[in-house]
Amino acid sequence: MSRFWSDVVKGLKPYVPGEQPKLANLVKLNTNENPYGPSPRALEAIRAATGESLKLYPDPNAEQLKLAIGKYHAVDSSNVFVGNGSDEVLAHVFLALLKQAQPILFPDISYSFYPVYCGLYQMDFETIPLAKDFSIRVDDYARPHGEKCGGIIFPNPNAPTGCLVPLAEIERLLQSNRDSVVVIDEAYVDFGGESAIPLTVSYPNLLVVQTLSKSRSLAGLRVGFAVGHIDLIEALERVKNSFNSYPLDRLAIAGAVAAFEDRAYFEQTCQAVIATREKLSGELKAFGFEVLPSKANFIFVRHPQHDAQELALALRQRSIIVRHFKLPRIEQFLRITVGTDGQCAALTAALKEILGA
Ligand code: PMP
Repeated sequence: MSRFWSDVVKGLKPYVPGEQPKLANLVKLNTNENPYGPSPRALEAIRAATGESLKLYPDPNAEQLKLAIGKYHAVDSSNVFVGNGSDEVLAHVFLALLKQAQPILFPDISYSFYPVYCGLYQMDFETIPLAKDFSIRVDDYARPHGEKCGGIIFPNPNAPTGCLVPLAEIERLLQSNRDSVVVIDEAYVDFGGESAIPLTVSYPNLLVVQTLSKSRSLAGLRVGFAVGHIDLIEALERVKNSFNSYPLDRLAIAGAVAAFEDRAYFEQTCQAVIATREKLSGELKAFGFEVLPSKANFIFVRHPQHDAQELALALRQRSIIVRHFKLPRIEQFLRITVGTDGQCAALTAALKEILGA
């Protein structure tokens, strides 16, 4: 702490991202990256954008990318906002749209960046407990008429559980919450969920946030986006243009556009991750693990006889890294990113040894 720090900085509890170890030859199943590389067309576009033109600023509006996203999701580019990873998009969402709707609501077990943004922007929040089976019950977010309505945000599928709220339930939530902003963070939706983006046409209070970090294998490029009514988008643009005019560089715009255009590669890699997830879930169940039903590129598991932290440590000694959260309700769980078939085979072989199965 320093006497030069502002009071806000003194009170911050920053987000701690999953470890990015420098060691080679690790089976890295801890940060939900895609085990497959980006689309070869995206890599080619990034290479082609590397040249003399880097002396010039990029398009501050990234219009080409908004058009590509709009085309893919069948919305107008004016309904699209883009940012430097969905974390940046979410940060702007908290300031632009959720700050005026306090206290905001999100699940007790959810993306741990949400309370961090609340700390940064000095916002009140209320956490809503997940059901016993770790699902999100949308009825718990409805507020009776007259009661002050907060904004609502949750990931769908939820993180770190992987559990999906069906689209019909999201619509029911929107019907009972027309006066507050509802933000659905769809970072993992492409691995078996159904996007709420089509609902943005009928619900002007709905904002859907997505990322290219997971299903499009571009975590290193930092591209995220939001889709919603133009009034919501304008609020985000106002914040963005008061913060950084050029959050997306030329390489990011070029790579992201090409990634959206390569639908075949995207579908093929998502299907591969889904197939491996199902196989891995079955194998871990056979080892006695409880595996929550996942529609994401990770699974959330616990073993009734083995301590999660000890398991994580034993895996680490075998060069396999998974994520363990020392948090109430979930401290006996491990979050395991779905890797390639080979990486998952290494994981199951190690677990077999550790469990003596
Ligand atoms: N939302 C959720 C639920 C996440 O798990 C993540 C990844 N940590 C993000 C958003 C942010 O992803 P990115 O900034 O890479 O787009």
